[in-house]
Amino acid sequence: MVDRLDVDHPLFSVEFFPPKDAAGEAQLWGAIRRLEPLDPAFVSVTYGAGGTSRDRTIRTTERIASDTTLVPMAHLTAVAHSRAELRHVIGSYAAAGVRNVLAVRGDPPGDPLGDWTPHPDGLTYADELVTMVRSLGDFCVGVAAFPYGHPRSVDADTDFEHLVAKIRAGADFAITQLFLEPGGFLRLRDRLDAAGCHVPLLPGIMPLTTVRTLHRGPELSGAPLPEDLVARLDRFADDPVAFRAAGMDATAELCEKLLAEGVRGLHFYTLNRSPATVELVGRLGLAAARS
Ligand SMILES: Cc1cc2nc3c(=O)[nH]c(=O)nc-3n(C[C@H](O)[C@H](O)[C@H](O)COP(=O)(O)OP(=O)(O)OC[C@H]3O[C@@H](n4cnc5c(N)ncnc54)[C@H](O)[C@@H]3O)c2cc1C
Repeated sequence: MVDRLDVDHPLFSVEFFPPKDAAGEAQLWGAIRRLEPLDPAFVSVTYGAGGTSRDRTIRTTERIASDTTLVPMAHLTAVAHSRAELRHVIGSYAAAGVRNVLAVRGDPPGDPLGDWTPHPDGLTYADELVTMVRSLGDFCVGVAAFPYGHPRSVDADTDFEHLVAKIRAGADFAITQLFLEPGGFLRLRDRLDAAGCHVPLLPGIMPLTTVRTLHRGPELSGAPLPEDLVARLDRFADDPVAFRAAGMDATAELCEKLLAEGVRGLHFYTLNRSPATVELVGRLGLAAARS
């Protein structure tokens, strides 16, 4: 799949989560069908904490592989899994025709910022998962990156070294946690380049459609919440329509700054809805650029 990222025009990819019920399934498939004609580079499906969504992640990525023209990528975490279970899930992905895996460690179940306890026969860090996926077949492997450091890391420099280790373990590309101003992402990109890691780094973009996306995202991600952005958007807090319009303008401006700096791909967190991504792809000319 990484060849789909190696093109001379800007591209985009999208992230979904596996639905829990029939209504969620209908919403997801409506979003998939609306995004399909825009030809994203890939569509990824997250993996629930503790393997809770294992079967749904496999089923969803399998159906994307068989019923659409899209390229699926399945996420995988090491949470609460033995090595044997992880090997089994990776085998299920291969059997479903899914050859692209985002290898992430996962958060401790219950409290994302709590202490990590590995399964007694499991893995502790994502670089081990990268090595395992790589050893089990011809997979294209991605990893998570944090422009401001992982929230539980000792410091940003140490976290950077761990990101480099994941890439050296065999990652083909990395996707970042969401962020709201371009500086941290661009510094991380340049730093990876200087360290000899030339794999694509895709910025994770959360469209600012609601007050919750503005405040909750940074809280969980460790990215700063820029004061000027808060001042610009919070005055619309009681008017969802006006907030969405201003939030989408701010998101489009962030994307434009990244593209102007030579960033080649944007990874949109969709929350299983298509309108914001379709709008941004149109505003940024990303679909037209691919034809
Ligand atoms: C794009 C993206 C997609 C995601 N998808 C999912 C998903 O589908 N499901 C899900 O549950 N979660 C997902 N997450 C969240 C992710 O699982 C958590 O952020 C998790 O806490 C870190 O995962 P990681 O792969 O970066 O872990 P790691 O790279 O293992 O890092 C975890 C922590 O350990 C440190 N560390 C790493 N290696 C070492 C080492 N060798 N020695 C000491 N310390 C080390 C790091 O600095 C960091 O603080 C995603 C995150 C991103 C950015």
